Amino acid sequence: MTPRKEYYKQNAKKILTALAKRHMVGYYCETKEIALKKAFEIMQEGSTVAWGGSQTLKEIGILEELKKHNYTLLDRDSAKSPEELEKIYHDTFCADYYLMSTNAITLDGKLINMDGRGNRIAALIFGPKNIIVFAGMNKVVPNEEAGIERIKSLAAPMNAIRLQTKTPCTATGHCQNCSSPSSICSNLLITRLSKTPNRIKIILIGEELGF
Ligand code: SF4
Repeated sequence: MTPRKEYYKQNAKKILTALAKRHMVGYYCETKEIALKKAFEIMQEGSTVAWGGSQTLKEIGILEELKKHNYTLLDRDSAKSPEELEKIYHDTFCADYYLMSTNAITLDGKLINMDGRGNRIAALIFGPKNIIVFAGMNKVVPNEEAGIERIKSLAAPMNAIRLQTKTPCTATGHCQNCSSPSSICSNLLITRLSKTPNRIKIILIGEELGF
């Protein structure tokens, strides 16, 4: 085992213990392929699945895989009109499973997320029966402050660049605290407990994934 893999494994052990105290379920998978398999073990066939925009989900390849199985998918990219898109956004709150990543996860098991529109953090708080969070070990931070700094200095500017927003961070590479209409930073959420026990499931992955 490489030093990096061993380091990830040791940190994951701490996080899994912390998640249990926060009424969340944690898994550690060494690779994204094992994580993908784990997700399909969790999600019952025939259920409804929705997801938030995420580079990690793309890198795992779960969206393509879902289409090969027997699930009802709430896919925003399939909407043919603004009305249909709006309906998918709202139907998402009744999904059996909602897939997402997280901007950061602390060593003591808190999730830290910043959203522009807010659909992703709204679903994390309330609605879908189960939330499955995929997090590469590059998302691990020592504490809340480091998580917020990770968002400002890395996750948000990288996502802004990915989404080609007209925000100052796409030029500077660091948050400029903008109030641009295109800003992807409207709401900051810190999730410290799963109010419904075991509703939030975290799959930690021993690789660098997403931003
Ligand atoms: S500059 Fe604006 S969009 Fe970019 S990270 Fe800061 S608040 Fe978010």
